[in-house]
Amino acid sequence: MTDSQKSPLPPGSTIGMLGGGQLGRMAALSAAALGYKVHVFSPENDGPAAQVTSLNTVAAYDDWAALESFASAVDIVTYEFENVPSATAAFLAERLPVRPGPNVLHICQNRLREKDFCNSVSVPTTRYAPVESAENLIQVTDDFGLPCILKTAEFGYDGKGQVFISPGDDIAAAWNTMSGGRESVPAIVEGVIDFRMEISVIIARTAGGTSECYVPVENRHKNHILDETHVPAGISAGLAEQAEATARRLAEAMDLQGMLAIEMFVTRDDQILVNEMAPRPHNSGHWTMDACVTSQFEQFIRAAAGLPLGSPDRHSDAVMKNLIGDDVRDWKNILSEPGAKLHLYGKAEARPGRKMGHVNRMSPKT
Ligand code: AMP
Repeated sequence: MTDSQKSPLPPGSTIGMLGGGQLGRMAALSAAALGYKVHVFSPENDGPAAQVTSLNTVAAYDDWAALESFASAVDIVTYEFENVPSATAAFLAERLPVRPGPNVLHICQNRLREKDFCNSVSVPTTRYAPVESAENLIQVTDDFGLPCILKTAEFGYDGKGQVFISPGDDIAAAWNTMSGGRESVPAIVEGVIDFRMEISVIIARTAGGTSECYVPVENRHKNHILDETHVPAGISAGLAEQAEATARRLAEAMDLQGMLAIEMFVTRDDQILVNEMAPRPHNSGHWTMDACVTSQFEQFIRAAAGLPLGSPDRHSDAVMKNLIGDDVRDWKNILSEPGAKLHLYGKAEARPGRKMGHVNRMSPKT
């Protein structure tokens, strides 16, 4: 099949998926409903996605021989995890379509590049500055002022690699906590936002420039991990419009072919500031599985495969609750609750902080 024959990708084709977690699992189930096969490439054996697909490669992201045979076994490649090394994405992109493209991955893998990109297209973010060592941090915080938040620029998630620095704190110690004792790592300091609400918007876009956005939702965190998503976010129609316009501008500017989730802060004076972006389905979009015409996972597959996008309309309001660690023990009670929809990820061990599943509870649309 030539590249032009792959958009739209005909049913029966094989989608290569980098990453084997729960997002890959739910995306693979949606891909199957559209008639595709999914081949998972992940360093992890028997992860959540591998359990629902028959085609699996267990190999490291820099195992070039394994990547070569993966490339020849699949028709397009997408990913459910943005920390895939850029060299891996580039290697695959030389051989077959990778959607979203390596340019999108490159921007979204690094908090500094992400914020630079937003600002280059006039999308406001938190105030920030790059830092790369403890000495450098001492100088930067002198200028920047305290309090601030120090974050690793790469590979951070769920609040990992983040330190809040208050006036009087030991700055070198804060560096060590964030960097795990490493002398030099790419990092960022950010101003502390006194936000009213955290929201996110998920957008899908195809090569032709058609895009569809889900309604902005409110995200509530516990211990830096998403706890609940409330749909829709309790913000004015004007702010919701602004959040969606921000998502469209970012998707357009990066020429997205696929899905982008954008986390934003709504400040007390009603500004919208972008915090983070992920080029894939997102935990804050899990409610769409039971409350929308097209779930985020189906939409993700449609966008990556170059199919017409589905309607993101919601037929219900919803609250999505993550089941973290031992929360999953409640599965029987949840199943006996009328109207609650349980989704489990097939993870054997319920470690603290580990996302084991989620439950969607719907209510009539407001
Ligand atoms: P992140 O990994 O950037 O999504 O950060 C995890 C959580 O920390 C966010 O969801 C916020 O609750 C909080 N947070 C991150 N950055 C800031 C900031 N600049 N100001 C205030 N809170 C923040």
